[in-house]
Amino acid sequence: MTDPTTQLIHHPYQPPAGFDAPLPALHKASTVFFPNVAAMRTRDWKDKSGYTYGLHGTPSSFTLEERIATLEHGKHAVLLPSGLAAVACASLALLKTGDEVLIPDNAYGPNKALTEGELAGWGITHQYYDPMNVADLAARINERTRLVWLEAAGSITLEFPDLLEQVRLCHARGVTCVLDNTWGAGLAFNPFDLDGQGLGVDVSVHALTKYPSGGGDVLMGSVVTRDEALHRRILLTHMRLGFGVSAGDTETLLRALPSIALRYHAQDQAARQLARWCAQQPVFAQVLHPALAGSPGHAHWQQVCGAAAGLFSVMVDARYTQSQVDAFCDGLRLFRLGYSWGGPISLVVPYDLAAIRARGWPAHLARGTVVRFSAGLEAVADLQADLAQAAQRAFGI
Ligand SMILES: *Cc1c(COP(=O)(O)O)cnc(C)c1O
Repeated sequence: MTDPTTQLIHHPYQPPAGFDAPLPALHKASTVFFPNVAAMRTRDWKDKSGYTYGLHGTPSSFTLEERIATLEHGKHAVLLPSGLAAVACASLALLKTGDEVLIPDNAYGPNKALTEGELAGWGITHQYYDPMNVADLAARINERTRLVWLEAAGSITLEFPDLLEQVRLCHARGVTCVLDNTWGAGLAFNPFDLDGQGLGVDVSVHALTKYPSGGGDVLMGSVVTRDEALHRRILLTHMRLGFGVSAGDTETLLRALPSIALRYHAQDQAARQLARWCAQQPVFAQVLHPALAGSPGHAHWQQVCGAAAGLFSVMVDARYTQSQVDAFCDGLRLFRLGYSWGGPISLVVPYDLAAIRARGWPAHLARGTVVRFSAGLEAVADLQADLAQAAQRAFGI
């Protein structure tokens, strides 16, 4: 072994043993070595008893999976390259041709786009149900219904559904329910034990891009279960579709997770203060935040939650023009225009709700233009002053 090329590859240096530090070691792999052919034939990655290939898991990805399962009060987790990939993995694992899936009309938009644009082509039908009316969901469950998506709070308009009754209904009718738990993040409520008596969803999907990352710089998703059989189906679909996560992103998530609760609760407090301030401004016909009395589903939020994500929306009164709403958003200096949330920088997005909702304008929402805010980690007084100056200039208040 004299050629320097070979020496570089088979280098004899071994670091001293016994290194231990807060961040677990980072392992990167596509190829994983086996000591012999017998090990190659018998090793199993599915129960995490061994390593076979980078896509099937490394010590780093197994560690992050265990921590995400713990965060969500589940038993098993799989990791995916984005939250949307996690949504897709859950639907693909649990649905086949001829099945029907029910989705709340206030669901995360790309989940609806996936269902309409991809699943429909594979003979999987869907219906959108009213998230605020359990009877409507009950009436839509039929012999082809295999999956019910739940979201609490809903995307953009942040209605909190009667999660307990929705889950009870799904269990009573023998339909698997999957919660998009990105908003709750495992911190606002326990998705697998909503009532303290074990009533819980079957599967929890989480866009780790949001609070677990906390940086606005990483995309990742997870699918968590407590049920062995469901986990097995999801794990196999995950493997067959070739979903995996990068070692670098895994490291970033492991670095960010220890501060998630601090960040979540700080952003919760900031959003509540800003939402309460907005509720005092007549320019906003409605302020949507489930912890605010009078916000749609507030009583349901109180039933299962203590905390809330740092998100709120305002319905700018219909007497203001779209260009005034745009000027309001453009006039913000600290709130930046951008999608996603959970990072250190406050964000704002105006939405065209009429174009998003399949079932028409919901009766519980005032007419107007929806603007959604996500509180970052800036000082709240500065954020409030920013809202005030932009509103003053755009609406003349
Ligand atoms: C952001 C988000 C997703 C998707 O996450 P990405 O990582 O951006 O793909 C899914 N569901 C909800 C509720 C989200 O907010």
